[in-house]
Amino acid sequence: MPALLPRPSILSIEPYVGGESKIPGVNRIVKLSSNEGAFGVPPAAQAAYATLAAELHRYPDGHATALREAIGARFGLDPARIVCGNGSDEIIQHIILAYGGEGTELVMSAHGFVMYEVSGRYAGCQVIKVPERNLTADVDAMLAAVGPRTRLMFLANPNNPTGSMLPAAEVARLRAGLREDVLLVLDSAYAEYVTRPDYDPGTALVEAGTNTVMTRTFSKVFGLGGIRLGWCYAPPHVIDILNRVRGPFNVNAPAMVAGIGALAEPGWVETSVAHNDAWRARLSDGLRAAGITVHPSEGNFILADFGTAERAKAADAALKARGLIVRMMHSYDLPQALRITIGTAEDCGMVLDALTAFMRG
Ligand code: PMP
Repeated sequence: MPALLPRPSILSIEPYVGGESKIPGVNRIVKLSSNEGAFGVPPAAQAAYATLAAELHRYPDGHATALREAIGARFGLDPARIVCGNGSDEIIQHIILAYGGEGTELVMSAHGFVMYEVSGRYAGCQVIKVPERNLTADVDAMLAAVGPRTRLMFLANPNNPTGSMLPAAEVARLRAGLREDVLLVLDSAYAEYVTRPDYDPGTALVEAGTNTVMTRTFSKVFGLGGIRLGWCYAPPHVIDILNRVRGPFNVNAPAMVAGIGALAEPGWVETSVAHNDAWRARLSDGLRAAGITVHPSEGNFILADFGTAERAKAADAALKARGLIVRMMHSYDLPQALRITIGTAEDCGMVLDALTAFMRG
């Protein structure tokens, strides 16, 4: 009897690890491992979510019209060029399955966001990981990696897990150097947290051509990771393709109302970003003063480098002993590093205390 097997490329995918919220034997944990917003769920999102309980027998609006209009109004975008998804992960997967597949190549930077590789292999693409400079995507190397079979290029900007950011001029140079038949996906999941003035989340590049897509999420600054809501802004022909392949009800009804509520919460993004700015700097400086290498970050997390995998593992254990869960970076080929989400002031203080004590050894 022949064995039942999936396509071979699928067997090379490692199951996703992350999101743990328990440490055996520890009662009070602080989860700083998934780059979730520091302030919980926006109250307006919670209130909107709660109103929906008696309506759950109804299918959601398959076009997510009210949500797309709210996103369009907030970001100054045409709602007709927006598609929403079950997290931006879903949109990334649809884009790759629609435009990639067997016989094509997907180009990403060496430490780019992990789901590009997972979905790329799922689709059967050859995934090309391009060496970086100082843990930052290298535009010349990315362009040099493009071959005749390349159909997709992904750039998370800022990138998770490195926190690095490419300036607008570099992103524009990347787009300008690509053929028309290569779709550039700019993943701007952490856009709101960027404070450098030379940043562009990708809106203008989407509008300027026919082959650039920007993806965004409600999981980070908008505090809705649990509800799974993301969206993309894309040229009309890409929107048409995504509307053909996505599930008819891929965004659930509570997600839509919660997303609209989060967008309406007064001052939410401003407060979150000001907090993130202040504590990203304090935590980075404090860890550097303790002797840890911290990469510059434009996201709501930092990458702390302990020099060796053994030291990183020991640092992780020291954090866990105090109930602090951060992310080990084996799956990103950075076993010497830990990624730490910027939490509340108290969370950051606990991380600083624990790692300062660890370094004093
Ligand atoms: N892109 C990047 C760069 C991310 O870090 C994440 C979340 N870890 C995502 C996309 C996916 O976000 P979501 O599916 O929650 O929208």
